[in-house]
Amino acid sequence: MGLEGARVTVVGAGVVGLSAAHDLAAAGATVLVVGDRAAHEGVSGVAGGLWFPYRVTTPPGADDVLLRSRARFEELADRPGTAVTVRAGTVVERTAAPDRSWTAAAIGPREARADELPAGAASGVRASLPVADTPHYLRWLRDRCGHLGVVEQRAQVHDLDATAAATAADLVVLAAGGRSGELVADPDPGHPVGGQVVRLRNPGLVEWLLDEEDPAGLTYVIPRGEDVVCGGTADPWPATTAVDPGVQEQILRRVVAAVPALAGQDVLGAAYGLRPARATLRLGPVPGGAVPVVACYGHGGAGLTLSWGCAEAVVRFAAALLGPRTADRPGPPTGSGPVDDLPQFV
Ligand SMILES: Cc1cc2nc3c(=O)[nH]c(=O)nc-3n(C[C@H](O)[C@H](O)[C@H](O)COP(=O)(O)OP(=O)(O)OC[C@H]3O[C@@H](n4cnc5c(N)ncnc54)[C@H](O)[C@@H]3O)c2cc1C
Repeated sequence: MGLEGARVTVVGAGVVGLSAAHDLAAAGATVLVVGDRAAHEGVSGVAGGLWFPYRVTTPPGADDVLLRSRARFEELADRPGTAVTVRAGTVVERTAAPDRSWTAAAIGPREARADELPAGAASGVRASLPVADTPHYLRWLRDRCGHLGVVEQRAQVHDLDATAAATAADLVVLAAGGRSGELVADPDPGHPVGGQVVRLRNPGLVEWLLDEEDPAGLTYVIPRGEDVVCGGTADPWPATTAVDPGVQEQILRRVVAAVPALAGQDVLGAAYGLRPARATLRLGPVPGGAVPVVACYGHGGAGLTLSWGCAEAVVRFAAALLGPRTADRPGPPTGSGPVDDLPQFV
């Protein structure tokens, strides 16, 4: 609570925008989400669904975003309709000093034994992490937003001030993923990192596997419900977003080598998506707008992973920018929030 009476327009209906909309509405705001396509039609629909901070850097001061997000997903795990579970799995390491910062937010991380690792691995970590069956999860998230009164409008935004005026917003949240940099001044508008996945019928797997440094190429296996998402690739500025059958064959060879039970499983689908990468996640107020603007973009390969922690941060920024609101006192005049006093997190 705390945003009663505030009108917030969220630009972008991907997993990040919808999660922010959910928490803003839960805090009492009247929320409109404007996006030019539905969450499952964009890269949010391609996400494998594993909670893991892949190809993302959180800015200083935003360390709790990862932990809060993991905690929120854990709360959702196994609740009917959410399609979220907590599953054990292995991160394979092949370098002398692997980055284990993610383990601070993981559930029960421990050193993997040699017999739990593939040949050639230097070390590894076993942990339990949330996994969302993304298409079902996004449907649940949209439904939850609907229950909270969030309205979704299909439209393209060309100018944030004009959109704020047209929607009578007190505050705008910019969550337009990889295209956010087109709508605000940003010295680092980010860059796309393409990724291809193939979905196989699940032969009964329950454990995920992530081997970023597999010499044969990026390898991950994420069992969800009926399917297993198998990846992958990480192509900065890809020339095309079409699924490449040759690359799919290579992915299949790698995942079968890592998890032999996947051999011969039916291919259920394949997809290519653009991760909205940026040097660091942009999370915080953007000065200069006709109304206060909170940016939330640049989630790289971890939009789902960071979604709830970012949503909570967006609510905190919104509350600080709009000030205390009561029926008698609807907060400071539009656009006068204390942008300069807040951490910028950019
Ligand atoms: C192969 C692959 C696997 C992945 N696996 C995982 C994973 O396992 N776990 C994980 O956490 N992440 C994963 N990711 C990353 C994840 O998909 C992204 O980080 C996440 O989807 C970004 O969400 P978003 O809401 O910021 O962006 P988007 O999903 O792109 O949503 C932004 C929305 O804004 C809208 N928009 C943009 N500009 C405008 C405009 N001007 N007007 C109106 N609307 C606009 C678009 O329609 C878009 O739908 C994966 C990505 C790929 C490619």
